[in-house]
Amino acid sequence: MEHILLGAPVAASIRERSRNRSERLKSAGIFPLLAVVQVGERPDTVKYAQSLVKKAPESGVETRLVCLPEDIHADGLRRALRELSGDPAVHGILLLRPLPAGMKEDEMCALIAPKKDVDCATDLSLAGVFGGKELGFAPGTAQAVMEILRYYGISPQGKRAVIVGRSLVVGRPLAMMLLQENATVTVCHRSTRDLPAVTREAEILIAAIGRAGAIRAEHLGKDPVIIDVGINWDPALGKLCGDVAYAEAEPLAAAITPVPGGVGAVTTAVMLEHVTLAAERLSGKDRQKGTEN
Ligand code: NAD
Repeated sequence: MEHILLGAPVAASIRERSRNRSERLKSAGIFPLLAVVQVGERPDTVKYAQSLVKKAPESGVETRLVCLPEDIHADGLRRALRELSGDPAVHGILLLRPLPAGMKEDEMCALIAPKKDVDCATDLSLAGVFGGKELGFAPGTAQAVMEILRYYGISPQGKRAVIVGRSLVVGRPLAMMLLQENATVTVCHRSTRDLPAVTREAEILIAAIGRAGAIRAEHLGKDPVIIDVGINWDPALGKLCGDVAYAEAEPLAAAITPVPGGVGAVTTAVMLEHVTLAAERLSGKDRQKGTEN
């Protein structure tokens, strides 16, 4: 097994898969298209939207950037989301968040057609993750963790997996995805008593906390595989770092993802691949593929 689980080769293989699917769709006249909906001009949102537009072609995905003004009335955003949901040329919809103050995110997300919900913004997508059904799509980050495990040949089957963090975008869906792969899963959170005692049991330890260096040597048992989802800015070091104190953990781990260059490098590729999958499902090409094989 590789010791340092880099995200780049995982992302590259996902992009290749996605490009191949896109080529098949294009030969049938279907051009996978992601609509990126940006409300206002928050610098981080603008930067993310621009990076998506730049990266999408490598995954065989075209983008349509829908920029709406910060002061748009809620009805204007509702209309835009309904139109995109009904537009047959659009296969994926990504509503960039946070929305401007006063807009109800849950209500807006619910207007995205579940079949086009490529980043798990709707309740139906989450229900699909929890029920193990293809209703929408899993959150990009949680799936990126699963893709890393798969790529490096780390099977969760029968293993004790401990996830620290229970958010709806990472910890909870990931718990379901690991259960689906027959891991024995424990989910920890702020109120977990004696966290090190629980995490020391982990054969696969996933940190999705949002606190730099929260996982230290005392949290680690024997040779765990460590997946660090955290992305934190460390002002003292002046750089990005994960939730795991890397220098302490790396020598004790069987394998570990770096930050940056680990999970974060895979997330966007996963979400863009969802667009090609959505195009396939919407066009019925996934069923045809089944009968051709
Ligand atoms: P969140 O704030 O929604 O959830 C954090 C979770 O950590 C909570 O469930 C909380 O109970 C738990 N927690 C906090 N302090 C704890 C402690 N001391 N002990 C045990 N549990 C504790 O955060 P999130 O949105 O799930 O994100 C988590 C981290 O992952 C952040 O650093 C975020 O930047 C990063 N993230 C990365 C990606 C990516 O693509 N790599 C995507 C999303 C989030």
